[in-house]
Amino acid sequence: MPLPTRPRPVPAGQATPAIDVRNLTKTYGGKPALRGLSLAIAPGSTVALIGPNGAGKSTFVEILMGLRTPDAGQVSVLGHDVVRDPRGHVARIGVQLQESNLFKLLTVREYLAFFAKLYPRHADVQALAREFSLVDFLDTRVGKLSGGQKQRVALALALINDPELVILDEPTVGLDPIVRREFWELIRRQAGRGRTVLFTTHYMDEAKELADQVLMISAGRLVAAGSPTQLIERAPAGVSTLDDAYAHYVRCEALEAA
Ligand code: ADP
Repeated sequence: MPLPTRPRPVPAGQATPAIDVRNLTKTYGGKPALRGLSLAIAPGSTVALIGPNGAGKSTFVEILMGLRTPDAGQVSVLGHDVVRDPRGHVARIGVQLQESNLFKLLTVREYLAFFAKLYPRHADVQALAREFSLVDFLDTRVGKLSGGQKQRVALALALINDPELVILDEPTVGLDPIVRREFWELIRRQAGRGRTVLFTTHYMDEAKELADQVLMISAGRLVAAGSPTQLIERAPAGVSTLDDAYAHYVRCEALEAA
């Protein structure tokens, strides 16, 4: 049975941010991972989070999910105070983890049905399988799927609870260029349904193609935020690609920190 439509956020600028983070700090054994990170994400937007390895992206995302406690700062996800209550928003968010986390011995049907049962409100497994071209693989073990098929299962899983916010961790890593493009279309479709989508990526073409907003973080701080076009325009003359803009902003942060 199809799910009743969940009320979707009103357009950006008129509503509580989907994510609102202020002065977030997190230190591991005295080493800072996040250093006063502040940012806001409008409901219904698609946002790319990019930054060098070690920039603090995973730490940030894990805090949003309620899996890590920040040392200081405020974290609001879908209007919910995650620091005060790290689990209260979990049924309203969906997360696509990396492929290695899939239970390889379960069939696709068992896998999706298992997680569907965890939520009082969940999507129909058959309908999800249709949307993600997985019908022919429902009785195949997850471990036997190709990389692209596994990623589709992981994305279907992220949507099993009809989430308002979807967090995707490097959703197309390792996929061939054609499969990547097909995957972008699936992500775009989710955004088109009013969901807020936050994804991490190292691929600038992916950020440019999918994101309304790009958040660049480096050494635990936000170093630039804006649409791909704005980020290029705000960089010095001669910068004409998002790759160049990214290199510019990360270099500026490194010089400032030195
Ligand atoms: P990214 O996802 O951008 O690569 P991370 O959030 O994984 O960044 O890491 C930020 C910093 O925190 C890095 O210096 C990393 O080594 C450190 N770090 C991350 N997780 C842990 C952990 N569990 N214990 C200790 N240090 C960690």
